[in-house]
Amino acid sequence: MDMQSSEQAWITLGAALDHAVSWGAAPGQCHLETVTLPPVLDEGMVLRLLCTGALREGQSVDLASGAVWEVSSVQEKSKYVPGQRVWLHPAPPCGICPACLAGCAVSCRDSHRQTAFPGWMSSVRVLHPWAVRRGVVPVPSTVGPDLFTLLVPMARAMRVRRTISRRDRVLVVGNGIQALLVGAALDGPGRRALVNPNGDLQNVGSFGFQHSGTGLEPMREALQGEPDLVVVVDGSADLLEAAVHSAGLGTTVVAMSSVPAGDRFSQLWEKQTTLMFQRGIAPEDLVPARNRIVEIARTLDAVPRSVVAPELWEGRETLEALWTVIESCAPSC
Ligand SMILES: [Zn+2]
Repeated sequence: MDMQSSEQAWITLGAALDHAVSWGAAPGQCHLETVTLPPVLDEGMVLRLLCTGALREGQSVDLASGAVWEVSSVQEKSKYVPGQRVWLHPAPPCGICPACLAGCAVSCRDSHRQTAFPGWMSSVRVLHPWAVRRGVVPVPSTVGPDLFTLLVPMARAMRVRRTISRRDRVLVVGNGIQALLVGAALDGPGRRALVNPNGDLQNVGSFGFQHSGTGLEPMREALQGEPDLVVVVDGSADLLEAAVHSAGLGTTVVAMSSVPAGDRFSQLWEKQTTLMFQRGIAPEDLVPARNRIVEIARTLDAVPRSVVAPELWEGRETLEALWTVIESCAPSC
């Protein structure tokens, strides 16, 4: 198939997809908009949104990074086929510039390219070949697409696994699903305990934690020694400080959220603690994250989630459910 003009692209997409639904600032504030699709270039493709997800983690909700798509049509020169499911990197980096090679893909100049049309979220999306080559992670259709709305939090967890070698006694502090995924990523020999201050996480044993509770000290005892890795997923500066306090000499502390370290951490110096901030994702963790999601699909399927239609999503800053999946049917706004 050879689609050199927007008109031909329209024909190929068919009557059911003769317009792209743009959701505007947030799905709850959606507006229907008919747009002329740009030409689908060689190696480019057209996608249909299946679903997207949002997690309650006390941080801003980024629906674009949780979106899962289905390939609608492709150009001749493509390794993808219609019907294939994919996750799209919302801002794919080049992978070869100094920033990318230093592991700081968010500083890649190319990650600011316009690689998809229209906008950040729509029912139909035309993807530029540049993004097809760098920002597509195929996902299997044997697993529900909603599970891959967790790809970014899983990639963040897999980054901890990749960058920290010593993890015999792991202490994880957090309230959201991200804390569970850290347990799933670090699963293996050794002991893992979860401090869940809100007490809102269930079934933590299937995510690799032998112990869980709402307080720091009991979990520290459950590890039968001082933790050699502390991962603070979310929480206040006080929690981070308490976690650093509970750690042993030479421990690595990974902070996955924007907790201000301030100047209260004199213990970092005294305990020779390594404090690492790992908020973003690294491209090399995306495929391992996809694979881990497939491996633990049954466990993830058991996690309660709230499923809503796009028009019922109000772009809330605070989520009632730990995990919200927004179905992709065209909103009737
Ligand atoms: Zn780059």
